[in-house]
Amino acid sequence: MKVLFIASALTLVGSCANIRYTQKIENLKESIVFEHPEMIIKYGNTITPEELSAHVYTLSSTDFEGRETGQMGFHRASNFLKDFYVDNDIQSPLGYDNYYQRISKSYFSKDSPSSQNVVAYIEGSEYPEEVIVISAHLDHLGTSNDATYFGADDNASGTAAVMEMAQAFALAKKDGHGPKRSILFLHLTAEEIGLLGSNYYVKHPIYSLENTVANLNIDMIGRVDKIHEEKQQENYVYIIGADRLSTKLHYISEAANSQFTNLILDYKYNAEGDSNRYYYRSDHYNFASRNIPVIFYFNGEHQDYHQPTDTPDKINYPLLQKRAQLIFSTAWYLANSKERLEVDEIK
Ligand SMILES: [Zn+2]
Repeated sequence: MKVLFIASALTLVGSCANIRYTQKIENLKESIVFEHPEMIIKYGNTITPEELSAHVYTLSSTDFEGRETGQMGFHRASNFLKDFYVDNDIQSPLGYDNYYQRISKSYFSKDSPSSQNVVAYIEGSEYPEEVIVISAHLDHLGTSNDATYFGADDNASGTAAVMEMAQAFALAKKDGHGPKRSILFLHLTAEEIGLLGSNYYVKHPIYSLENTVANLNIDMIGRVDKIHEEKQQENYVYIIGADRLSTKLHYISEAANSQFTNLILDYKYNAEGDSNRYYYRSDHYNFASRNIPVIFYFNGEHQDYHQPTDTPDKINYPLLQKRAQLIFSTAWYLANSKERLEVDEIK
């Protein structure tokens, strides 16, 4: 009798806690409201398959020789980005004409040359000291035995998405709808050789890490992996890390998707203990390890992953557009919300 009583009392306490948790989540969801959705759609639509394609083809051209850290092709690609930002009237946070966060030779292994992260930004109108970092690595594997590793998906796709988002935010600003918080567009070097560009960035941040609200990181978003090909379900993206530090970030991402893009958000690789360990394997992890909430956007691996056959003709540009628009609307929310995104107290 007694045992039964205690057991049912415990069940009652448990279900009360459940109800409280469910209520808390409901309140959290209700607090996420996208103001001026028509603007998010308007400026999001300036991200087009045609422009994305033009950027991906240029970044994956033989001229850039597979964009290997420290090599000529990487420097040419950096210069291409700098010209893009100058042409679009998007400034550098490092000051006039200096779009390179230089990283000296000594930071890399002994014989590799110096390199740089390429940076541009749009200053926030109300909270300029707070920043949203949108990142993608620019480097890839270079050339070997006469083969060029073009890296169209890895990561010209992410780089092109960052460029197009920067342009969209800049157009909005020109029309008087600039973001309230600052947005940093961060093109990282040396990801392929150990996340070194992002590691350098978090040790030498341009904005203090306390004022870094979130990092949205993109690495490969132009293709469809085998799992989704077989399911005939191309309209997806893997979301990794969104709920690890901030429950609210996860729901912002979900709300942005259901309101603007309707992709299938696949959380397969976000499972704790997933053997692929993608959460630890791209640049966002250097931010997450400093307690900055992150989302990692990824299409999964495919047969051309880290092969010379990762070429621009295999990218699905309308899908790349949709994924970029999801990231854009999420960034728009983070940059414009009344309250700054917080890290969960207990996690
Ligand atoms: Zn990559």
